[in-house]
Amino acid sequence: MTANININKKDYPISLKKTAIVVCLDGSQKEYFDQALEKNLMPNLKKLIQNGSYLLAHSAIPSFTNPNNISIITGQPSSIHGICGNFFYNSDTNEEVMMNDPKYLRAPTIFEKYYEVNARIAIVTAKDKLLKLLGNGLKYDDQRVISFSAEKSDQATLLENGIENINSWIERPVPNVYSQDLSEFVMASGVKLMKEFKPNILYLSTTDYIQHKYPPGHEVANNFYIMFDKYLGELNAMNVTMIITADHGMKPKSKNDGSPNAVFLQDYLDKAFGKDETKVILPITDPYVVHHGALGSFATIYINNKNIINSVIKEINKIKDIEVVLNNLEACSMYNLPSDRMGDIICMSSEYMTIGSSEKKHNLRDLKEPLRSHGGLHEREVPFIVNKKIKEIDNTKQLYNYDAFYYAILGASQ
Ligand code: ZN
Ligand code: ZN
Repeated sequence: MTANININKKDYPISLKKTAIVVCLDGSQKEYFDQALEKNLMPNLKKLIQNGSYLLAHSAIPSFTNPNNISIITGQPSSIHGICGNFFYNSDTNEEVMMNDPKYLRAPTIFEKYYEVNARIAIVTAKDKLLKLLGNGLKYDDQRVISFSAEKSDQATLLENGIENINSWIERPVPNVYSQDLSEFVMASGVKLMKEFKPNILYLSTTDYIQHKYPPGHEVANNFYIMFDKYLGELNAMNVTMIITADHGMKPKSKNDGSPNAVFLQDYLDKAFGKDETKVILPITDPYVVHHGALGSFATIYINNKNIINSVIKEINKIKDIEVVLNNLEACSMYNLPSDRMGDIICMSSEYMTIGSSEKKHNLRDLKEPLRSHGGLHEREVPFIVNKKIKEIDNTKQLYNYDAFYYAILGASQ
């Protein structure tokens, strides 16, 4: 009999024969892989798929980075773990609150639970904004945990990250936060940690800087996937069960002239219902807005006078490029969202459209390339690539990116 550990209502085997690795390749719409594979640019991935499988999964909604990273490391959607965006609006205090503080986390992470049963854990993320959430509940005093971000790799300490002097260890300077190097740093660190630290569980999470800028098949995008393939090959050569997935996909969202395709919903609602009657919140908003101008395909709206919710829904329904308009209850049950952190209405736009708040609030001049973004239903399909056959994966059921650790760990226990 194998002993199991129950984490957020799922049973995971405690004893692992291999390292369970999940790589979350931020914003990797499946076509990035398909185009690179077609041109034979990813020989390691090709081999890996031959021995394993290339499946597709759904991300959690909204198809944003933080909710999905946290879904992946808890094995559940945000209705369970509470992190449903970069921001949420606290209507009691009338504040938009950043949700990168672990106090907003409502469920233990898989890492935390495995740490409690003596596993060795390693986590590397590109952007620092995720690190506190990813490392929640872990302790660094017995050398069983290493977690750090590429972005702040020079600031890591033994006390808070389980490692120091990372840049000389990996022989790489701190990468620019808007660069491919940020993701390469994550992958190179993963390989080195496998060789030297030998974790039981390894999580690598990159950034979607390249995917926001370049479409699948573009030379720069292909070069990114060539880089990725090299590290993939090194990881796959070790004793690992590895799943490669993405936090969300990525779609083009601009007009023919290159300007962004956006419905400025706050302006629209102000006109229809008056100023300060509605408040459009875009949970994609974050301190790193350069590559998406805070335009994504998901919005939630707080309404002052709850009696007009249905009329607001009716009014938004007139906008043809907003595909989903639901009240809080319907949306939260359909998309597994935490009701108390969502507004009265939830909206998602069509495939090539984004939702903005007020036009003047978006700094679109910084957008150098035609907008590519995510957040809605059209970016929820993501690759789910496994390096070996795992017979327990039931292909009659919808697979989610947040099943990745479950299957990676199951595979590693066999
Ligand atoms: Zn992302
Ligand atoms: Zn993004």
